Amino acid sequence: MPEAKKLLENNLLWSQRMRERDAQFFERLTGQQRPKFLWIGCSDSRVPANEIVGLAPGEIFVHRNIANLVVHSDLNCLSAINFAIERLDVNHVIVCGHYGCGGVEAVRSQKRLGLVDNWLRHIQDVSIQHRTRLAMFSDADTQWERLVEFNLIEQVANVARSSVVQEAWAAGKRLAVHGWVYSLSDGILHDMGMTIRKPEDLWPNYELAVGLASRPPGLPIDFRGPTAVGRLDHEGPA
Ligand code: ZN
Repeated sequence: MPEAKKLLENNLLWSQRMRERDAQFFERLTGQQRPKFLWIGCSDSRVPANEIVGLAPGEIFVHRNIANLVVHSDLNCLSAINFAIERLDVNHVIVCGHYGCGGVEAVRSQKRLGLVDNWLRHIQDVSIQHRTRLAMFSDADTQWERLVEFNLIEQVANVARSSVVQEAWAAGKRLAVHGWVYSLSDGILHDMGMTIRKPEDLWPNYELAVGLASRPPGLPIDFRGPTAVGRLDHEGPA
């Protein structure tokens, strides 16, 4: 574990490297940020948004919290969504969960962690909502994996139902909400298949994603075929 001073040294080297690669890099960034994407992910240090999707600073607007939750009364998250859509004009909101999420596991195993339990209570609600489906899985690891997926599905729905997103669609804005799950073991992102491009997409796509998260144990999430992640740019947001 590097000490804090080491980070400052690293930063100098990084800044130097970036300027060597692209002399105008910082000059352009100072001018204005024009990200196309808003990323809502977990604070987990193993899921760095920019890096895993190969984007440079300035290309993705990021909001992270424990267990990638979108809570309708969380002014922090709602402000990030509002700012990204209305001021930065992003066309894609990506909610990203990850397997091996400690927040989700704390709920699944009913472990008490302290103050954060109040925040994780939102995942407990998800586990109660999907208890019949979760009960179909006898082993703890599959339950953990599927609770990660059900949590993601609910958070994507929360984004799509937020007043900010509903108003953007009503105003004719091209905006897509995506739900992806990141695998810590191989660094691959998986599409939950519930991309929502208009209000009418929400519930049919929600049902499909819930069906996918209820698949038999042992089946990978993208058993239906290659992930749609690679098609994102070609498809466009609407
Ligand atoms: Zn996490």
